[in-house]
Amino acid sequence: MSSSSAPLPPGSTIGIFGGGQLGRMLAMAAMQLGYRCIGYAPEGDNVAAEACVDFFENGWHDKAALAAFAGKCDVITWEFENVPLEAVEAIPAQLLATDAAALRTAQDRLAEKRFVTDLGAICADHARVENDDDFARAIERIGTPGILKTTRDGYDGKGQWRVGSAQDARGLRLPGRPCVFERQVEFEAEFSVILVRGRDGAIAFWDSAANSHEGGMLARSVLPAGSAVESQFEQARDIARQAAEALGYVGVLTLEFFATQDGPVFNEMAPRVHNSGHWSIEGAATSQFENHIRAICGLPLGGTQTRFAEIELRNIVGEDALDAHRILGEGGEPHLHLYGKSEAREGRKMGHVTRVSNRRA
Ligand code: AMP
Repeated sequence: MSSSSAPLPPGSTIGIFGGGQLGRMLAMAAMQLGYRCIGYAPEGDNVAAEACVDFFENGWHDKAALAAFAGKCDVITWEFENVPLEAVEAIPAQLLATDAAALRTAQDRLAEKRFVTDLGAICADHARVENDDDFARAIERIGTPGILKTTRDGYDGKGQWRVGSAQDARGLRLPGRPCVFERQVEFEAEFSVILVRGRDGAIAFWDSAANSHEGGMLARSVLPAGSAVESQFEQARDIARQAAEALGYVGVLTLEFFATQDGPVFNEMAPRVHNSGHWSIEGAATSQFENHIRAICGLPLGGTQTRFAEIELRNIVGEDALDAHRILGEGGEPHLHLYGKSEAREGRKMGHVTRVSNRRA
């Protein structure tokens, strides 16, 4: 999509790579603006399909299906960063909401660390690990505790191993894929910078919530985020802005950081809407989902300001979802979102609840 092309008129079709909850919420926002969505993902629990007018359940390497999908869309975006590049590159470039460079960078932990380091960001001390010798050298140079992560395909704490000591490391069998070993950061808080960049290059940021994780997966995000985050988010925003500009990015982009005594330390980048921004549906003037759609369709961006004094987002995971409607009877103005997943497996994100309040404690 070139910055000069006209905004997509109502009735236009947005293609979404990926079939998860992020695609579902993007499609819901698109529908409100008069657009239709078509999804594309391999067979699976594609909960985005319910919000789409059509859904291609085809493999990432199915050239014919990719061409048919592209033929039906006016613009194509993605809802997760591990869409194989081959699939994205099979789409005519003028249909892509943003260049595949963002995916290429974010799909590889080492590439994204290099990319943000060049922009002036600080990353945890780290080393590439492909074999036992690399691992031993990394442990010696970087020390423990640390975390070993596959460079690709990890998410929600998957593809990660905590290494408490050199002895732990000796007992760990490498996964047979390239990894990065990184020092465990001592942080005061975790936060993400979520921005939207329009086709015209305009950038807006949502407030940064403080994120807490359980087992490597986001559990809770709260606003106000507290002084550790509030004193560092400007610096982090500066990196995120540079990243978006360097990538010529259009849409919502997320960078995650640790707030440390030495300032913000970059953790990872997601070229998409982000779990820690779900609070924006009720809590911000315009949600991350709506602004992503506005950006990729060339519409004016909506305001990102926070509308409540206090906001809490909590994920609903695994079997907790089975009786989630009980939450509606609880206090704190709960806004419940269930993703319609068929199986409430342990550790699976099934929904979220956002509580908003204008009462200061
Ligand atoms: P990631 O998939 O890299 O975002 O990791 C998931 C979560 O694991 C992070 O949000 C942190 O809570 C934790 N984590 C990951 N890397 C580190 C690190 N180098 N130091 C401390 N905690 C980490």
